[in-house]
Amino acid sequence: MPKFSVLIIEDEKNIQTFMGKVLKRHDYRVLSADTGAQGLELIRSQCPDIVLLDLGLPDMNGDNIIREVRTWTSTPIIVISARTAEREKVLALDLGADDYITKPFGTSELLARIRASLRHSNRLRTDSTFYIRPYKHGEMSLDFSKRLLKVRGEEVHLTPIEYKIVAYLAQNSGKVITYASILSNVWGPYADDDNKILRVNMANIRRKIEDDPAQPKYIFTEVGVGYRMAEDEDD
Ligand code: CA
Repeated sequence: MPKFSVLIIEDEKNIQTFMGKVLKRHDYRVLSADTGAQGLELIRSQCPDIVLLDLGLPDMNGDNIIREVRTWTSTPIIVISARTAEREKVLALDLGADDYITKPFGTSELLARIRASLRHSNRLRTDSTFYIRPYKHGEMSLDFSKRLLKVRGEEVHLTPIEYKIVAYLAQNSGKVITYASILSNVWGPYADDDNKILRVNMANIRRKIEDDPAQPKYIFTEVGVGYRMAEDEDD
C-alpha cells in the first residue's frame, strides 16, 4: 500500500510538529507549510491526499486557500479551528472544506477525522456502489438497499424524512455535516433555512435510536454547526 500524504498548513510550529510526528508514526507521508503561499505551492506541486489547514495564517486567511483550491481539486481539506469559532467553521465548510478539528485536539480525534475524510473521498472517486454496503456502528446498522435501520437487532420505524436524514449522515459518517447541507439534501434546493424542522426531526430520531437521547452514541451535535454520525466500523 502506498502511503497517503498529508499536507499541514499551520504557522504555529508546536502544533505543526505535533501533528507531523503523530502522522508519521501512523505511516502517513507528511508535508508542512508555514504560510498560505507555501501551502498552495505544495498542493499544486505535490498533490497531497489530504490537507490540514489552519485558518489564521500570517500571509492570508485560510478561507482564501479553500476558495482557490476548490476551483481545481476536490482533495479533502480539514480545517484546524479555534474552539468558539462556529461561524468560521460553517463558512469554511460552506466554501468546500470537508471537516474541521477544534484546538486543542487529541491524537485519536485527529486520526479519526483524517480517516473519515480519506475514506469519503476514495469512495467518491473509486467506488460508486459503496452506498449499497450497510453502515454499522455499535449496535446500530443501516442497510441502504432495504432502507432498513436496526438497533440491537430490532427494526426501527422511521418516517421518510427521518430516513433521509439518517441515511445522509450515515453516508458521510465520521464527518460533520452542516445544517444547511442536511436541509438542502433532505428537503431539496428550496428548503427553508430554518433549522427548527431539522431539530424536531432529530429529536424524534434520537428517541428512536439512542438509549439516552441526551447522551447520544450515534448522532452527535456539533454546536452551532451541524451533526456528525459515529464513524462506520466496517472499514
Ligand atoms: Ca495560526
